[in-house]
Amino acid sequence: KVVEGEKLRKKLHNTILELKGNIRVFCRVRPLLSEDCVSAEANAISFPTSMEAQGRGIDVAQNGQKHSFTFDKVFTPEASQQDVFVEISQLVQSALDGYKVCIFAYGQTGSGKTHTMMGNPESPDNKGLIPRTLEQVFETRQSLQAQGWKYEMQVSMLEIYNETIRDLLSGFDASRPENGGKQYTIKHDVNGNTHVSDLTIVDVHSSSKVSSLLRRAAQSRSVGKTQMNENSSRSHFVFTLRISGVNESTEQQVQGVLNLIDLAGSERLSKSGSTGDRLKETQAINKSLSSLSDVIFALAKKEEHVPFRNSKLTYLLQPCLGGDSKTLMFVNVAPDPSSTGESLCSLRFAARVNACEIGIPRRQTSMRSLDSRLSIG
Ligand code: ADP
Ligand code: MG
Repeated sequence: KVVEGEKLRKKLHNTILELKGNIRVFCRVRPLLSEDCVSAEANAISFPTSMEAQGRGIDVAQNGQKHSFTFDKVFTPEASQQDVFVEISQLVQSALDGYKVCIFAYGQTGSGKTHTMMGNPESPDNKGLIPRTLEQVFETRQSLQAQGWKYEMQVSMLEIYNETIRDLLSGFDASRPENGGKQYTIKHDVNGNTHVSDLTIVDVHSSSKVSSLLRRAAQSRSVGKTQMNENSSRSHFVFTLRISGVNESTEQQVQGVLNLIDLAGSERLSKSGSTGDRLKETQAINKSLSSLSDVIFALAKKEEHVPFRNSKLTYLLQPCLGGDSKTLMFVNVAPDPSSTGESLCSLRFAARVNACEIGIPRRQTSMRSLDSRLSIG
């Protein structure tokens, strides 16, 4: 009976996912760190254990009130980088199958966005989604070669800071405002391919080549200083992997794109105590984060006008956000009681993203999975 109940629950869950369309929301709560200020208050965050909510629910206590949220998945502080990767590996396969995929990390500074996306690429346990994705892509490419598939991969990495694009692989000192005099204008062609003029695009053939690129990009990332965190990131980081595959025997072609985006901190203006340049940064961040949510809500509601052009970030990602592309948003949360206010803001935003698609039929479900391709042989 227990097994049947579990089966039914899974079936129901899958049906809900089918109904929901192509936007998913995962929540990840990072562990307490030694530098977190922990008062005598009880831990503000807990995880419901009921059958319906387990693995999908999160409760936040504030001033004696409990706020409950449900997402497609909730990762507790114990979840390892590998546990998280397992849940997105299907999306990585979709990109190999020719889909356009965006994975965002959203949350306040210090909530674990960069840890989730990049982690420490050199550490087997701590490497994040980007290095793990690349490993999977190269491994899969290897195994598909036997069936006549040839893949080409290209990587670019950029950052959007104050509505200006910076190339992280150009070799220029990215902190120099003139950025080598380059323009970085964004254009989309009729096939839905995005071109950013002057942007460095690197052909990659192995994971190890990519590791050195990741190191280079990490060095060039700009960091701002706010009261909240000395190294708080005030820019959006966009990692793009373009995949084009051709099957030499069947002449089938696929073109997929995988974007992994580490968004700038979502913390509210007042808390950062911003003035001058910091104020300008914060306003740019607020603008692009609210544009991103406007776009996601407009897409989910199938509105005729989707305001892609309101920010650089949404315009850059336009072809990867609409149509039958797939979007996953991580909402990263810090567990310390002093972050409760920001955590609630992030969770409410994510809950709106999560809720807004329910009841809308999936645009396209006929995804030829890689597994089936492997077994057709
Ligand atoms: P953000 O990018 O959102 O500002 P970070 O990813 O830099 O936050 O995380 C802040 C700190 O917390 C870092 O020291 C990071 O190593 C640590 N951290 C974040 N998530 C985890 C996790 N799941 N496990 C262990 N440490 C984490
Ligand atoms: Mg960060």
